[in-house]
Amino acid sequence: MAEHSPRRFTPQAQEALASPVIRQNFRGAMDYLRKARSNAFSDPVEADAVLAKAEAVRRRCLSQLPALLETLEQRCTANGIQVHWAETPAEANAIIRALCQREDAKLVAKGKSMVSEEIGLNKHLAGLGIDCRETDMGEFIVQLDGDRPSHIIMPAIHKNKDEISATFEQHLPDFEATRDVDQLIAAGRQALREKFQAAEVGLTGVNFAVAETGTLCLVENEGNGRMCSTIPRVHIAVTGIEKVVEQLSDIAPLYSALTRSATGQAITTYFNMVSSPRRPGEWDGPEEVHLVLLDNGRSQAFADDELRQTLQCIRCGACMNHCPVYGRIGGHAYGTVYPGPIGKIISPHLLGLDDAGELPTASSLCGACGEVCPVGIPIPALLQRLRVEAKHGASAGHPPLKGQGAKANRLEALAMKGFAWLARHPRCYRAGTWLARRLAPFYPRRLGAWGQCRVTPKPAPKPLSQLLKEQRRV
Ligand code: SF4
Repeated sequence: MAEHSPRRFTPQAQEALASPVIRQNFRGAMDYLRKARSNAFSDPVEADAVLAKAEAVRRRCLSQLPALLETLEQRCTANGIQVHWAETPAEANAIIRALCQREDAKLVAKGKSMVSEEIGLNKHLAGLGIDCRETDMGEFIVQLDGDRPSHIIMPAIHKNKDEISATFEQHLPDFEATRDVDQLIAAGRQALREKFQAAEVGLTGVNFAVAETGTLCLVENEGNGRMCSTIPRVHIAVTGIEKVVEQLSDIAPLYSALTRSATGQAITTYFNMVSSPRRPGEWDGPEEVHLVLLDNGRSQAFADDELRQTLQCIRCGACMNHCPVYGRIGGHAYGTVYPGPIGKIISPHLLGLDDAGELPTASSLCGACGEVCPVGIPIPALLQRLRVEAKHGASAGHPPLKGQGAKANRLEALAMKGFAWLARHPRCYRAGTWLARRLAPFYPRRLGAWGQCRVTPKPAPKPLSQLLKEQRRV
């Protein structure tokens, strides 16, 4: 399968648009998720109160991020959780690799973790002969196929029942083709069950890390997160530094905003709280718990008052579910780990504005993403800022971001300067519009990529000023 890249966004999007199956799969899934969210927030007054609280919690916690991280480390350490800091994906992989090698691990049972996707953990461990097996059902399906997740909470959303059945037929012994969802899930679970038993190491993400108590919270529906964090001897939790919250009471509004925005559920089937390794006398749980805290561009976002808001994200996926672009092209076209609106504002920090390619411009700026974001991230405004910086370089008063000015186009800049000059000189402007009307028959029918979906504009036969004059004369 060809590697997708954000630099190839346009051809990848065109490819997705040309696939009726992808469009149909996403249409159905997005309609379902939007309806579920809308039902979950059916009382607008109550919804506003919950979302305002969630936003306030994220803002407050981020404003104290360095101090909260120190407290988190102290509390976790006191509880027996070993804390590791990683500035880059390579450092995070090295930490996890060392822990796996120390255990002589051949199999890692992995729960849902977007940060592990961000650091390319599966590929890294596979290169060392360690099988990192996805246990979230959606992730399991895409891993069997050698595919990639296309949504941050529903990784296999681009596949329909027939495609999943075909995947299982190819990879699971004794599986008989079916379109029955329950049977498909049962077959997947059966295959996964033995992996939990055999894995030497369990690895999960973290939804919220509570500084006050040194507790790692995992939100999930399948129970695989609990299996990964309790059955293997060693549990490694990997997460971004922004996931820390101040106190246990911060969890309730965030949890409610997350589950309702993501899947329309009041609560998820499982909510796990890991506060220590197994204690004497306890029946289950890992003997060791490790927490890997990853930076990977987050400190840079934190240093910028405006872009810091990207770190408020609780990874609910609602912005993707409501995005008219994502809903038509799906997640793979973006070529990034985080697709959709959230990916467009996070990826420039992870990759730089140059490597993030056209992503900040892949938006109609309709504002739906900003409206549904449960923690009030002004996604359209941030996209506009990133667009300006990609073209014109750094904005005054903000720290530099890798790749600023990478999209500068000298011809375009010259044309805009010329137009600005013309607009300030009425005589020349009138002469220019007169000339433009005379040249109208010779305009090209297509104006490059811009004209792919547009008709070349033609000047009106008479300028507005002349029409007004004529009207006054009547
Ligand atoms: S940006 Fe907002 S809507 Fe999008 S995933 Fe993050 S929290 Fe959810």
